[in-house]
Amino acid sequence: MHICVIGGGLTGLSAAFRLSGSHEVTILEMNEEAGGCLSSYHLPDYAIESLYHHCFSGDRHLLSLLDELDLLRDLEWLHGSTGYLVNNQIHPLTTPLQIIRYPLLSFVEKIRLAFFVLRSRSADRGKLDSIPAKTYCVDQLGERIYSSFFEPLLRSKFGDQRDDVSAAWLVSRIAIRSDRGPEGERLGYLKGGYIRLIDSLLSYLNAEGCRIVTGHRVISATPDEGGWIVDGTRYDCLISTLPPQETARICSVPFTPLPYQGSACLTLGTSLDPTNGIYWVNMGDPAPYGAVITHTNLVPYDRYGEHIVYIASYFRGNPPEDSEEILLSDFCSRFDIPRDQIHWHRLRIEPFAGPVYVTGYRSLIPDPNPAPGLFIAGMFSPENYPERSMDGSIRAGEEIARRVMEWSD
Ligand SMILES: Cc1cc2nc3c(=O)[nH]c(=O)nc-3n(C[C@H](O)[C@H](O)[C@H](O)COP(=O)(O)OP(=O)(O)OC[C@H]3O[C@@H](n4cnc5c(N)ncnc54)[C@H](O)[C@@H]3O)c2cc1C
Repeated sequence: MHICVIGGGLTGLSAAFRLSGSHEVTILEMNEEAGGCLSSYHLPDYAIESLYHHCFSGDRHLLSLLDELDLLRDLEWLHGSTGYLVNNQIHPLTTPLQIIRYPLLSFVEKIRLAFFVLRSRSADRGKLDSIPAKTYCVDQLGERIYSSFFEPLLRSKFGDQRDDVSAAWLVSRIAIRSDRGPEGERLGYLKGGYIRLIDSLLSYLNAEGCRIVTGHRVISATPDEGGWIVDGTRYDCLISTLPPQETARICSVPFTPLPYQGSACLTLGTSLDPTNGIYWVNMGDPAPYGAVITHTNLVPYDRYGEHIVYIASYFRGNPPEDSEEILLSDFCSRFDIPRDQIHWHRLRIEPFAGPVYVTGYRSLIPDPNPAPGLFIAGMFSPENYPERSMDGSIRAGEEIARRVMEWSD
């Protein structure tokens, strides 16, 4: 059977990885390089993800794929520290002592917050899908903790869609991010970068005879006697890993559009550390970005010879035309970094950076096999609910490959 996979991100590559031994597979990827959200910039001395990435200890599918590709031994478990920028000051929030010293919540509020975090680990997310995160937090914790702690986090991640986001997303986010000890959150990073995962998948696929066509933006796909014609070539089966609304446009199959948001992420190299040793600083103060992530406060600076900083923002619709300048100039003045200390900077605009997990999202997840011979999987799949991740996309790719094999038998 000849299978066409649209999209060379983690979902498409993982699906092809499971199918290419027993079937002829062609991947069509519009960018010049595969990797999708997990692709990297190639600097003269190193490669670095164009969007910040780390993994978590519970990422079973990612860890087992790394193992299969003989990369697991190079996965390092590091300590991710966090902070919160409020009133122009970064408050470290990593160790218990730092949390006790945090001045913007009272001792009693911190205890309530701690119990809320503990409860979140075992909360029934199914029931929380229909409840807005705001309502849930205010009910459980009161207006003050919500507005001084969770509201800025939701604003930085979802902007003006924050009131629509479900408690299922918030609780799962808290649960994922609460694998922490006194030195911080336990986060995994692949020595040399996640580009090694993409490269290993590509080497394996090439060796199995899979065709990987980059620089090919799929325009149209039409059904043809049980198979699909994709931009003029006939395949027995089609897997699309694009957002459902994109698949709908290309394949003329109706889907309820899922709410998605875009990401504008500025990455830069500098000799200065803007976040005082902290890996991830969320913006409590209003700013044109939601977080400043100093990669080299997670992964040792010596590997790069400079600090690598991500300035992360999300948008709905289109990003401002001069996003790069807006992000850079605010960052430089707010974090006191002279422009001449910035060695390089690049902006990545990702129009489909992930679904917005609004209330009732689960009922919007589309059928993975919406038409004969057409299969869909990606960041919107159940495996990526209620938060998309590398692990979820690998699972989604593997699950869709399993469905295709079942269908072909
Ligand atoms: C800002 C950001 C930070 C993240 N950080 C983390 C993290 O720290 N940890 C974690 O686990 N996960 C993280 N993720 C999530 C993770 O990157 C994704 O879940 C995963 O990479 C998505 O893979 P995918 O294949 O489903 O989608 P994509 O990577 O979006 O792949 C889809 C591919 O389809 C291609 N394509 C689109 N249209 C066409 C077309 N018409 N024709 C041909 N090709 C087309 C695209 O170019 C792309 O390569 C992050 C994501 C973002 C956006």
